[in-house]
Amino acid sequence: MTAPLLEIKNLKKYYPVKKTRSGEKTVVKAVDDINLTVNQGEIIGLVGESGCGKSTLGKTILKLHSVTDGQILFHGEDITSYNENQMRPLREKMQIIFQDPYASLNPKKRVAQAVMAPLNVSGKYSQKEKEEKVEAIMQEVGLGEKFLDKYPHEMSGGQRQRVVIARALINDPELVICDEPVSALDVSVRSQVLNLLKDLQKDRNLTYLFISHDLSVVEYLCDKVAVMYLGRIMELADKRELYENPLHPYTQALLSAIPVPDIHAKKEEIILQGEVPSPMDPPKGCLFCTRCPHASDRCRREAPELKTVECAGGGTHQAACFLCEGREE
Ligand code: ADP
Ligand code: MG
Repeated sequence: MTAPLLEIKNLKKYYPVKKTRSGEKTVVKAVDDINLTVNQGEIIGLVGESGCGKSTLGKTILKLHSVTDGQILFHGEDITSYNENQMRPLREKMQIIFQDPYASLNPKKRVAQAVMAPLNVSGKYSQKEKEEKVEAIMQEVGLGEKFLDKYPHEMSGGQRQRVVIARALINDPELVICDEPVSALDVSVRSQVLNLLKDLQKDRNLTYLFISHDLSVVEYLCDKVAVMYLGRIMELADKRELYENPLHPYTQALLSAIPVPDIHAKKEEIILQGEVPSPMDPPKGCLFCTRCPHASDRCRREAPELKTVECAGGGTHQAACFLCEGREE
C-alpha cells in the first residue's frame, strides 16, 4: 500500500514567550499534538478562529518553523529532522500560498522574473524552456502574456494572487498549503480566485491543505474539514458530515454563526460565552470548557482525546468531546 502524501503525527509547535506582567517564562502551545493524514488529491480544510494555530501548523509542516515534537512524513519519508539542504529537493513538491499577495511579491521584480524564480533554483531548464513554462502557467492562471512585464503595484489584488499561484505551481508541486488565500481580496474577486484554485486542483490532481476562518469558503472547496481550537483539532470529518451533523459544541457554534441567505430560513445562532482564552494560560481539562454551553465538571478536569465517533446516519467523525463519546455508548 502506498503511503499517504502527508502524515502528521503528534505534532507540537510551542513558542517560548514571557508573560508581560510577571516576566515569567512560559510557552504558547500554538500547535499541540495534532494528528492528520492527507491523501493525494484531497482538499482538507482547516478552520478555526484567529490565533488557533492554523498558520503555525501550515508553516511547521513545511519546516518553515522548527518542530517542537512529533513527526511529519511526506510520501512516508520522515522529514521532521531534515535540514535546509535535505529539504531543498522537497521544497518544489510542497508550496505555500499566503493571504497577502502584495507582501509575497518583491515590488521591484516584474511578473516574469517572479514567476520564473523557482525554475532558476532548480537549475533543470534552459532559458527557452523556462520562458515557455512561464508563459504556459500564466495562461493557466488566467493572466496571459500581457502581464509578464508588469510590476506588482500595477495589478489588482486578484491579479497579484494569480501571480503568486503561478509562482507556486510552476515547479509542479504535489502539496499546496493555502493559508487564507482569498481573505485579503475584494469580495468581488474572491470567488474567481477560489474557482481558479478549484480548477487547478482538479486539472493537476493537487493536494491542498486549505486554511480559512471562513466556513462558507471551506464548504465550497474542501473534501474533509478539521476544526481547530487553541492548537488542537476538536473535530475532523468529511465535509458533508461535518456541515450536516456537527458533533462538537465548538463546531456547532461556528456553523450556527454562518449567515443564511434566506431570511425565512430558521437558524438559531449559538452565541458563545466569553473570549477565546489566552493561549499562554489555557483552561485545564477541555480547552473549550470555558465557553461550552454543555461543559460538565469532568470537562473542567480532564482533556478529551480526539476519538472516532460513529454517527446514527452511518458516518464517522473524529471528535474531542466527552459528550460525543457518550453518544457512542
Ligand atoms: P492562526 O493562523 O490560526 O490565526 P497562528 O498560527 O498565527 O494562528 O497563531 C497561533 C498562536 O501562536 C497565537 O496565539 C499566536 O499569538 C502565537 N504565535 C504565532 N507566532 C508566534 C511567534 N513567532 N512567537 C510567539 N507566539 C506566536
Ligand atoms: Mg493565520
